[in-house]
Amino acid sequence: MARKRIALWGATGSIGLQTLDVMSQHEDLFELKVITAHSGAESLYDIARKWRPALAVLTGDVDRTHWRSRFHDIGVNLLFGRQGLLDAAAYDAADLVVNALVGAVGLEATVTALEANRPIALANKEVLVMAGELIMGMAAKRNLSILPIDSEHSALFQCLVGERAESVEKLILTASGGPFRETAKEDLAGVTVEQALAHPNWSMGRKVTIDSATLLNKGLEVIEARWLFGVGPDQIEVVVHPQSIVHSMILFIDGSVKAQLGEPDMRIPIAYALGFPHRLGGSFRRMDWSDTFALNFEPPDLHKFPALALAFDALKTGGTAPAVLNAADEIAVEAFIRGQIKFTDISRYIEMALHEFAKSGAVDLPAILEIDRDVRVWLNRHLEMGR
Ligand code: NDP
Ligand code: MG
Repeated sequence: MARKRIALWGATGSIGLQTLDVMSQHEDLFELKVITAHSGAESLYDIARKWRPALAVLTGDVDRTHWRSRFHDIGVNLLFGRQGLLDAAAYDAADLVVNALVGAVGLEATVTALEANRPIALANKEVLVMAGELIMGMAAKRNLSILPIDSEHSALFQCLVGERAESVEKLILTASGGPFRETAKEDLAGVTVEQALAHPNWSMGRKVTIDSATLLNKGLEVIEARWLFGVGPDQIEVVVHPQSIVHSMILFIDGSVKAQLGEPDMRIPIAYALGFPHRLGGSFRRMDWSDTFALNFEPPDLHKFPALALAFDALKTGGTAPAVLNAADEIAVEAFIRGQIKFTDISRYIEMALHEFAKSGAVDLPAILEIDRDVRVWLNRHLEMGR
């Protein structure tokens, strides 16, 4: 494999740090050119000191004079704010962008990177939820790959190798069911932030962990899969699989099912995206077949986890609906983490936002960014009044 120059957005996060772990197991294959973080300046500095990228970006509110001089002392150019991220996205000395940002903030930078002809390894699923048609259209026009990092989509991508699109009948996304799989519906209103953050199988950033507890994460992933693989909403099914060993499956038109399995270790899908089309070796977790174990599957309870049903509805409505769903979720999850609203309010607010804002029909980037802003303002005002 030829050496790849990597731009890593969200370097200080859960996916960002695991990407660096994979890269450090293959230092001969990768060169780190760009890194970004929001407010974790000290962590970004540690990464910069070790890897010496050409460019670093801090998008959050930080002491610019202090950090500029510290990064300067180690020979790393530091940019700031939203514009800094967009300038870094257009930086041409990278062969692959790893987008490990969380939330809608990654959308504009992704568009900029595609305009600059950069292929993208994507963890930041919110980008495809908000603007999947637009992003996939841009990538196809420029013949650029969007390589999935999300474990389910990496599984589907791996199962599709050597297959024809017309042979696919259904994509079957597996979901762990989250920490409340066995909690009674009437007890969900009283669950704490700590309980919601205690994911049974994965250690991840806070937003995706809360999304996994409401099952909205699986809803976002259904929308992500619809655009990544170009299938209709009716061709995507969700099944709860508490062990998180089968990462997803494809049902083909002859009734055959292919699955991808492995220990829940995000470094495996990250390595697949970084190395593609080559597989990278690594000290990632292995399954132990000398042990006796069972794998279970059950249908999701949409009554108990309405957020998943809302995501299917938003996908069918199309237009601005997925962007509305995403924005409302980001604000509601933050409010839940702050202790301002109940766990069950998250899906309630998403439903209210969809009702208020979602419209079908064609959308462009300005329309998506506008609806994203409008939903945030509206919901924040609503939360403020509810205090
Ligand atoms: P984290 O919260 O751990 O990390 C997010 C990264 O983005 C950090 O580097 C953070 O910087 C930066 N960031 C946060 N807010 C902003 C902002 N407003 N502007 C610019 N940068 C920002 O998230 P994860 O790594 O868990 O998740 C990243 C993406 O990957 C998400 O879309 C998630 O759904 C997806 N994903 C994650 C998985 C996981 O195992 N973690 C699994 C599958 C998908 P700072 O450190 O300074 O705050
Ligand atoms: Mg996932």
